[in-house]
Amino acid sequence: MQKNHFEDTIIAGGGPIGLACAISARRCGIDPLIVEAGAIADSIVRYPIGMGFFTTPELLEIGGHPFVCAGQKPTREEALKYYRGVVRTDALRVRSYTKLVNAQRSGDVITCTLATSSGDVTIDCKRLILATGYFGEANMMDVPGESLPFVAHYFDEAHRSSGLDVVVIGGRNSAVEAALELFRAGAHVTVVYRGTSFPQSVKYWVKPDIENRIAAGEISARLGATVLRIEPGVVIVSNANGVEESLHADRVYALTGFRADFALFRRLGIELDPDTERASVNPDTLETNVPGIYMAGSIVAGRFTSGIFIENGRFDGDKIFRCQ
Ligand SMILES: Cc1cc2nc3c(=O)[nH]c(=O)nc-3n(C[C@H](O)[C@H](O)[C@H](O)COP(=O)(O)OP(=O)(O)OC[C@H]3O[C@@H](n4cnc5c(N)ncnc54)[C@H](O)[C@@H]3O)c2cc1C
Repeated sequence: MQKNHFEDTIIAGGGPIGLACAISARRCGIDPLIVEAGAIADSIVRYPIGMGFFTTPELLEIGGHPFVCAGQKPTREEALKYYRGVVRTDALRVRSYTKLVNAQRSGDVITCTLATSSGDVTIDCKRLILATGYFGEANMMDVPGESLPFVAHYFDEAHRSSGLDVVVIGGRNSAVEAALELFRAGAHVTVVYRGTSFPQSVKYWVKPDIENRIAAGEISARLGATVLRIEPGVVIVSNANGVEESLHADRVYALTGFRADFALFRRLGIELDPDTERASVNPDTLETNVPGIYMAGSIVAGRFTSGIFIENGRFDGDKIFRCQ
């Protein structure tokens, strides 16, 4: 394994909050290294192509850099352009496609193990900030066939499914929005959801849309249904009456949510609440129970991923870095 130099601060995760933390650090005279498992703002790269934010641009701004977009709300593409512009303007040091896989503390030094395309490297640092978000791992249903190639856990683009039979699994915002987009792109959509109705957390302007499309017979639905298994070309469910049913599918979108890499946090010695998987962090400094290791952004909310988003997580860096 290659051993590298010493860094004052390593930030794991180059999403909006990791970048915001880096700006806070730089304004305190510290030049952190950001290690990012994917591309800059990889979670936004994974949003559906062309997707619009529900947040207005000023609430997505970091480091006071103005975010100007063409419409009232930005698109995925405008946000990617904005965040890479911030990296360029503030000369943030980002090592893309470099994943933090472990970290060990010894005395005042934290040794980070990073997986790269050319093998693992280690870098020592004084301070490690975890801003790794929760899009890395999809919630699996633990049913046979969910890893078949025609099953996707991220929604990409409705056009690819025009004219096809598509089963969408899930009933929260991502699944409902995907189902509506697929329908409007000419796919024959069946939504399979274990709830008997769509939850209140579905955006108030989207919920009536899906309910009306189902009532009109334009989108099929199996509510109160459980997926039993997936086989090539078919999703087998137990419907609300407990009857086994086979649904033909050219493509399947299993949009059952995402989870943070809690195993990584445990490996680092961070204590997590067994029910919520929230780490014990000092609310004023965001330092965890492991001295020198901090958490920022959406992961601070544990399993409740909708609790912290860009608008309310973007100032976390100012808690960690308080210039003397
Ligand atoms: C479809 C969709 C629409 C949304 N719309 C909005 C909206 O309008 N407004 C809003 O405020 N929020 C919105 N959100 C939520 C928002 O995307 C998240 O709250 C936000 O991305 C969290 O920022 P973060 O920096 O904490 O984590 P992330 O943005 O998830 O960034 C974490 C980064 O860390 C990287 N990473 C993960 N593990 C490692 C590792 N071990 N080592 C190195 N790097 C790692 C990831 O690749 C990722 O780039 C939306 C989410 C989705 C899915």
